[in-house]
Amino acid sequence: MGGFFGVVSRTDCVADLYYGTDYHTHLGTMRGGLAVQNGQGITRFIHDITNAQFRSKFEDDLPKLWGSSGIGVISDYDDQPLIIRSHHGAYAIVTVAKLENLADLVASALKRGAHFSEMSGEEASPTQVVANLIDQGDSLVDGIQSAQDAIKGSCSILLLTDDGVYAARDLLGRTPVAIGEKPGAFAVTLETCALANVGYQVNRYLGPGEIVRITQDGVETLRPPGEKMQICGFLWVYYGYPASNYEGINVEVVRYRCGGLLAQRDDVEIDMVAGIPDSGTGHAIGYANAAGIPYGRPFVKYTPTWPRSFMPQDQRVRDLVARMKLIPIREIIEGRRLLFCEDSIVRGTQLKDIIERIFACGAKEVHMRPACPPLIFSCKFLNFSRSKSELDLAGRKSIQELEGDEPADLDVYADPDSEPYCAMVERTRKRLGLTTLRYQRLEDLIAAIGLPKQRVCTYCWDGVEP
Ligand code: SF4
Repeated sequence: MGGFFGVVSRTDCVADLYYGTDYHTHLGTMRGGLAVQNGQGITRFIHDITNAQFRSKFEDDLPKLWGSSGIGVISDYDDQPLIIRSHHGAYAIVTVAKLENLADLVASALKRGAHFSEMSGEEASPTQVVANLIDQGDSLVDGIQSAQDAIKGSCSILLLTDDGVYAARDLLGRTPVAIGEKPGAFAVTLETCALANVGYQVNRYLGPGEIVRITQDGVETLRPPGEKMQICGFLWVYYGYPASNYEGINVEVVRYRCGGLLAQRDDVEIDMVAGIPDSGTGHAIGYANAAGIPYGRPFVKYTPTWPRSFMPQDQRVRDLVARMKLIPIREIIEGRRLLFCEDSIVRGTQLKDIIERIFACGAKEVHMRPACPPLIFSCKFLNFSRSKSELDLAGRKSIQELEGDEPADLDVYADPDSEPYCAMVERTRKRLGLTTLRYQRLEDLIAAIGLPKQRVCTYCWDGVEP
């Protein structure tokens, strides 16, 4: 998916930028980039972070970077930041975006006489396409507005210019963007967990589609926020960092509430509650506290050499890494009835392997409680599942087993009180080899988040697209 961080400071910004960007590492696997403006121009470095941590890759660059404003990115796809010279002047750009209509945007740009440097897959760089759209505008704000209007999907942007950092949250606010402040400096970030340890406090959250310009003197709104919001509900369930807040709502707190609500509806008899590390942990603590049942760690994660949560794009390598990271503890598993909370079941292949290993260590029963409903529709708004077919989703696989390749009506599978839903869950339970499987209900997930349903994107669970 990716994440970004920017700083405008009265003093040198590089240390804050370096650490602040690093705190987005859980959001991307491919590229890291930093760009700093020092009054004489923009200096930029981009590195491949596929097999190395962001900080180690940029350590040697730090002495060559200085300046009072900068932007950084962790990208799951294209090389960023790009430095663009246009009629707006020179600027650096980073995006967190999914351009569903990338091919159409490229075709129209080519007709206008534009050109793009191609990436290895013969696709134009999405960030370059966004920059090209921005350059069609009379001003940067006008260009950002028309770029966001033209994009199907979502696009949040940071621009580093001579006169400050422009920040734009995507039109429906699917991705969060927050402003941080400390004496003499402002930061802009996707993850608010990036702020505290570099001394910033959250100043405010940008609204959907809001555009601001950040200078040493403050934050100026250039386009006010829109009315409609569709912030991604999956942020709180799965890929957001526990120490982060979106719309002022903390991830870990939501996960405790999710687990608590799962426990309230449950009647299973168990000896221990556990989380599938890491993102199942908060949900499991919430479950254990609400149910009054001990929380334990039947698996521990080997973090010294397997520290990252998002791993290589190749699914087989990801599965192998997932297996090597988790070490079971037989003494805790043997003879016990265990209930695991999991953020979600995406494909279920890694989970199947985990369940087999738990039984192999002598578990009597293994119950699974995902913190969100079954995923039925692939996300088309955010860029974190590029290569996956919708039919890879565990829920869709079960539907396919029940109905073949073309189910008559997918919506019935989003209704937890319907027979087709129960049949789908039962198929998934059997395939994974679980004793019981019960998913979170969507209304409980929304209650745990605490925003009105119409303000949260729930498309991947119910297919609703306001
Ligand atoms: S479809 Fe799912 S993952 Fe995508 S933005 Fe909506 S809630 Fe998030």
